[in-house]
Amino acid sequence: MNNIRSHKILFFYTFIILLGIMFNLLSFFWFDTFHPNGLKIDANSFQNGEQTLSYRLLDHSDQQRMAFAAHVSKQALSFTDGNYAVIFFQLNGQAYSVYFNGVYLGTVGDMENGNSNIWNSVDYFYFDKNLVQNDNVLSIQIFSLYDRGFSFMPAYVVPSADVSAHFCLAKFYTESSIFLAIGFCIFTGIIVFKLFLSSMPKNHAFCYFALAILLLGGYLFDYTKSTSLPMDYLTYKKLMFGCLYAAMSFASLGMYRFFHRKSHLVLSAITIAGYLPIALFVNDIIVFKACYDYYNLIIIANLLNWIITTVKYFKINDEAKMFFLGNVCLLICAAIDVYMTVTGRLFSLTTPFTYAFIFSMTSVILFFSEFANKDTQLKLVNDAHHESYMASITDGMTGLYNHRYLLDVLCQTSPPYSAAMLDIDNFKSINDTYGHRFGDAVIQHVAQSLTSGVRSTDMVFRYGGDEFFIIFPECSAFNAREVIGKIQTKIKENKLFIDGNPVPVTLSCGICDVSDACDTANVFDHVDGPLYQSKNSGRDKITIFHATD
Ligand code: GH3
Ligand code: MG
Repeated sequence: MNNIRSHKILFFYTFIILLGIMFNLLSFFWFDTFHPNGLKIDANSFQNGEQTLSYRLLDHSDQQRMAFAAHVSKQALSFTDGNYAVIFFQLNGQAYSVYFNGVYLGTVGDMENGNSNIWNSVDYFYFDKNLVQNDNVLSIQIFSLYDRGFSFMPAYVVPSADVSAHFCLAKFYTESSIFLAIGFCIFTGIIVFKLFLSSMPKNHAFCYFALAILLLGGYLFDYTKSTSLPMDYLTYKKLMFGCLYAAMSFASLGMYRFFHRKSHLVLSAITIAGYLPIALFVNDIIVFKACYDYYNLIIIANLLNWIITTVKYFKINDEAKMFFLGNVCLLICAAIDVYMTVTGRLFSLTTPFTYAFIFSMTSVILFFSEFANKDTQLKLVNDAHHESYMASITDGMTGLYNHRYLLDVLCQTSPPYSAAMLDIDNFKSINDTYGHRFGDAVIQHVAQSLTSGVRSTDMVFRYGGDEFFIIFPECSAFNAREVIGKIQTKIKENKLFIDGNPVPVTLSCGICDVSDACDTANVFDHVDGPLYQSKNSGRDKITIFHATD
C-alpha cells in the first residue's frame, strides 16, 4: 500500500478505536460517581432466611421463585417531603415484582413462564408518601432460572421528582447503548457486504467478516431488555450464543482467507462444531449456563490466534497492523471488564458496544484500505494499458503519431481543415553520403522542427520513410502554407553538422483544403499531386491543391 495513505488510514483507525474505548470508560466513570440524594439499599439488605439478593448462580436445589424483603425505617426515608421512586439497576433473573408494605408497585419481565430477558435493564417504581410507616418493608418477588441478584449496583430510593434525571443516563449506558451497538453492527455489516459484492476480484474474507459482524449484532440482543420473548428462555439463550460462536467462527474463517494460516480454519470449525452438541443436547438452563461459561474459552483461543497471526505479519503488511491494533484493543476492553468484575464494580454495560464498534471498524477500515490498494493497482494497470496504447499509435524513432493512427484520425476529423504531406528532398543521397545513422538523425531533426513549428491543436504524423503528414484543424491551406514556410526556413537555419560540415536539409510539400466530408476519401490524392509538383519544380517548394488541377 502507498506509504502515506497507509499511515493516514492507520492514524484514522487508531483515533476511532480510542473513541470506542473512551465511550466504554465514560460509562464506568458515570456509574462510579452515581450518588443520588436518597437511600441506598444494598443487595445484602434484601433477605429471605440465609439468602440475600447479592448475585449468585443457582444450582438445582434452589427454588426458582422467591421473595426477598428489605426493612426501611421512616427516618431513613426522611430525605424528601414528596413521593418516592425506587430504582433497580441490572437485577438478574427472568422477572421480578416489587411491593412496598405489601402494596404492589409493578413487575418487570414474565413472572408466569420466565420468557423474558431483563438483566441489563434499569427500572423504577413510584410509591406514595402515604404508604410510609414507622417500619417499612420493600419486598421483591423474583423468578430466576439460573442466576439471581443485583450485578453490582444496589437499589436506590430517591425523591420521585429526581428519578427521570437519574434514569436517562442510566438507560443510555445500559439499554440504549446496546441498541446503538446492534444498529452499528447491522450498518457496518451491510456496508462491508455491499463493498464485498461490488469489489473485483472478490476477497471472500470480507464476506465472512460481514457475516461475523451481523452475527455479533444478533448476539447483542442478549443484552437487550425483552419483557416477553417469542420463545422459551433456554431456546433464546441457545440462539444468542449460537450467534456469538458463529460470529467468532466466521471471523476466524475471514482471518484464514486473509492470511492463509490453517490454524484459523481449524479453530473456526472447532468453534461452531463444539457448540453444536451443547445446543442440541443440553436441555437444562443451569447446565447450559455452566457449559457456555467454560466454552467461552474458545473465544479467547480465537482471539489469541488472531493476535499471533497479526504479530507474525505485523512488519509485512499494513492490514496486519490494523488487525493487531483492533485485537489489542479488544483485549484491553476485556481486561477492563475483568478488572471491574474483580474489584466489584460494574460489568458489561457499554462493553458490548465497544466490542461491536472495534470489531466493525476493523473490518470497515480494512476494506477501505483494500479498496485503496486495488485503486493503486488499477491505476498501474491503466498506466500500462495507456503505455501500450501509445506505443501502438506512435512511431518509435520520432515519437510522432504513426501512419495507422493517421488513418483513424482522418476518419474522425470533421472538416474544415487543411492537410499537408511533406517529404525530405534527396534523402537517399543523405543516407548514401553520410550513412543511415545520420539519416535517422535528420528524420528526427525534421520531426522535432515540425512539432515545435505548429499549434498544439495541429497533429503531425510520420507517414513513412522520409514522409510526414500534418492536419491543421480549422485552418486554410493558405495559412498552413505560411506555417510550413516558416518551418522550412527554420530547418535551413538550424543546420545539422557532420565532421564540422553543414548538411543542407530541405522539404517539399503539398497542401490541400478539406472543406466537406466527401473530400476526406481523396485527401491523400489531393496532397500527393501538389507534392509531386513541388518535387518536379525544383524541390524545397510548397504547392497548394486546386480543384482544377
Ligand atoms: P526525393 O527528393 O524525390 O524525395 O528523393 P529521395 O532521395 O528523398 O527519395 P525518397 O523519398 O523516395 O527516398 C526515401 C528514402 O528514405 C528511402 C529509404 O532508404 C530511406 N529511409 C526510409 N526510412 C528510413 C529511416 O527510417 N531511416 C533512414 N536513415 N532512411 C530511411
Ligand atoms: Mg524524399
